[in-house]
Amino acid sequence: MRVGILGGGQLGRMLALAGHPLGYSFVVLTPGEGSPASSVAETLVAGYDDPAALAELAERVDVVTYEFENVPVAAVEILREKNVPVHPNPRALDVASDRLNEKSLFTELGIPTVPYQAVDDAASMEKAVRFIGLPAVLKTRRFGYDGKGQRVLRRGADVEGAFTGLGAVPQILEGFVDFRRELSILSVRGQDGEIGFYPLVENRHEGGILRLTRAPAADVTPAQQAKAEGYARALLEHLDYVGVLALELFDDGVELLANEIAPRVHNSGHWTIEGAETSQFANHLRAITGAALGSCAPRGVSAMVNLIGEAPRAQSILRVPGAHLHLYGKSPRPGRKIGHVTVTAPDPGVLDARLERL
Ligand code: AMP
Repeated sequence: MRVGILGGGQLGRMLALAGHPLGYSFVVLTPGEGSPASSVAETLVAGYDDPAALAELAERVDVVTYEFENVPVAAVEILREKNVPVHPNPRALDVASDRLNEKSLFTELGIPTVPYQAVDDAASMEKAVRFIGLPAVLKTRRFGYDGKGQRVLRRGADVEGAFTGLGAVPQILEGFVDFRRELSILSVRGQDGEIGFYPLVENRHEGGILRLTRAPAADVTPAQQAKAEGYARALLEHLDYVGVLALELFDDGVELLANEIAPRVHNSGHWTIEGAETSQFANHLRAITGAALGSCAPRGVSAMVNLIGEAPRAQSILRVPGAHLHLYGKSPRPGRKIGHVTVTAPDPGVLDARLERL
C-alpha cells in the first residue's frame, strides 16, 4: 500500500515510521525542504495548492491522508477528482479548521461546549462581550495553534483593541472556563464503521503548548469515559469519518466541555506508541487503508513529555527506566516541539518516580 501524506512534520514522520512494519511506503507533500518526515518517506517539495505536485502525488499513491488541519480543501478536491481516496474526508477539515464551525457542530450534536459568540467587527465584539461576560477568550476562527491567535480578556480595558490586535480577521469569543483539568480522547473509525476509543488522558499546557500527557488520566469515572466516547462517536458518525480523531475537553468538575477537535493523529496520543496495544499512528493507517483496527487498550500507565526549544542530553533520558526518546530531526528554536519522551510503567507510583527522575 502506498500512502500519501499532506504535510511533512513530526506527525507525518511518526505515521511513516508506524507504517513501514506493515509494508506500506510513503510519499509526503510538503512546502519545506528537509522536513521531519523526509528522512523516512519520499518527498515532493511543493505548495499544497500546486496542481502539478498534487497530480504527481495522485499518480504515486493509493490513498492520501493529512497531518494538519489547515490543508486547503481545494487540494483534497483535486486529489479526489483524480480518484485517489482522501481520509478523513474534507467535511472534517472544514469543521476542524474553523472554530465557529467546530463549536456549531458540537451544539448541533448536543455535545456540551463553552459559551461562544462569533466576532466579525467592533460592533459584534461589543455584543459578544455583553453576552459572554468577562473573563473571556478571544480566538481567531482559523489558523490558530499552540496558543497562537488567541488572548484572554480579563477586564474592560483588555477588550479595547483586542479585535484588531488579532488581525481584524473573523474571530470567536468564548467564555473563560475555570477548568479543573484538560482531558482528551482519541478515537478511530474504520472504513466499515468499526470504532475504537483510547482511554481519556490528562494534558497539561504551558503558554498554550502541550507539556505533559498522562495516560490514562487519573480518577476518571466509567461515566466520564462513556460520556467522552459518546461525544466522539457522535462526531465520527456524523462526519462519516475514517481515521483517528482527537477531541479536547475541559473537565470543570461538573461536566466535560468540548474545546476542539483535530481531524488527525494528535500530540496527546504520542504515548500510544509504547503505551497502547496499537499506536494511534498504526490505527490511523489501518483505518485509511481499509484494514482491521487494532486494540486501543493501554499497556500499563504512561506519561508523555514534550521536548520544547532544545533537546536535553539523550544519555540522561535513556538512563531512566521505561523512557522512550523520540527526536523529530528539527533544529532547536524557542517554543518549537523538537521531540518527546514517553515513560511507561506498570503502575502510577512507579510512573511518578520515573517521571521525577526524568
Ligand atoms: P486551544 O487552541 O483552543 O486548544 O487553546 C489552547 C489552550 O488555551 C487550551 O488548551 C487551554 O489551556 C486554554 N484555553 C482555550 N480556550 C479556553 C477557554 N475557553 N477557557 C479557558 N482556557 C482556555
